Amino acid sequence: MQAYLNGQYLPKTDAKLSVDDRGFVFGDGVYEVFRAVDGELFEGERHQKRLEDGLKALRITAPREAEAAVLNEIATRLLKENGHDSGHATVYIQITRGAAPRAHVFPPAGTPPTVYVTTNPFKDSAAVREKGAAAITQPDIRWLRCDIKTVQLLPNCLAKQAAAEAGAFEAVLIRENGVVTEGTHSNLFAVLEGEIRTHPANNYILPGITRAVVLELIAELGMTVREEAITEEELGACDELFLTGTTTDVMPIVSLDGRVVGTGQPGPIATKLYEGLVARMGMVGAR
Ligand code: PMP
Repeated sequence: MQAYLNGQYLPKTDAKLSVDDRGFVFGDGVYEVFRAVDGELFEGERHQKRLEDGLKALRITAPREAEAAVLNEIATRLLKENGHDSGHATVYIQITRGAAPRAHVFPPAGTPPTVYVTTNPFKDSAAVREKGAAAITQPDIRWLRCDIKTVQLLPNCLAKQAAAEAGAFEAVLIRENGVVTEGTHSNLFAVLEGEIRTHPANNYILPGITRAVVLELIAELGMTVREEAITEEELGACDELFLTGTTTDVMPIVSLDGRVVGTGQPGPIATKLYEGLVARMGMVGAR
């Protein structure tokens, strides 16, 4: 498997980082996961913009690889060399503040950021989607800048592990005040009393690219959505709950903490939006 590290294309097994890398020491970096369809990035501009926004928020000097044209070139080459240029794949890019002796304060200006890119085959959870997924709730113990896609994912990993150990697909995160935010690697939508709801894109959630596409699809389908979070109490009354994400697509939740959601089957709105997303990706009926 070929990877890209700091200007070089090389076998992933040969890619080596300094133990002083601030990504390793402090989790001081951002990442992005793109979906690629037949070698082309899906919603590439939106992902690239979010990557740029993250670098700005963390005050990491944007390397040239964060520019759309350069990033595209690297992704295209890796997808091809790794044989991921037909069908669905993902492109992972991580940018850290670079390597410097351990100190909380930023390294001297001019310290080059570390840039790592790789590609992976896309694994669709078709079997889960068909029946609908089980989810559990977990406390949202993350920091107050969940809108930045940093590599610091420990609360997400702990919650996802709890879900896995419960035999569930995803954990739905709930803040101390009872506000339901999102999944560990996905955004959450609800259908409640005929209304589609989702958490507003503020500092408590990641502004998902799939979320943005789904908001557009909802409008295209002549439906409306209210960007207001649902509460823990409202969770039990939802007709539909579904997750959205680059590696999740649209995933209906049919049970939450062991209790049936809606009819216990994937709901009509989630199903329509999944079909709409698939159509957008130019793969109607391909699965
Ligand atoms: N929320 C979190 C916490 C995530 O990690 C992800 C996956 N990147 C999402 C939402 C979904 O975002 P996207 O649709 O851009 O993949």
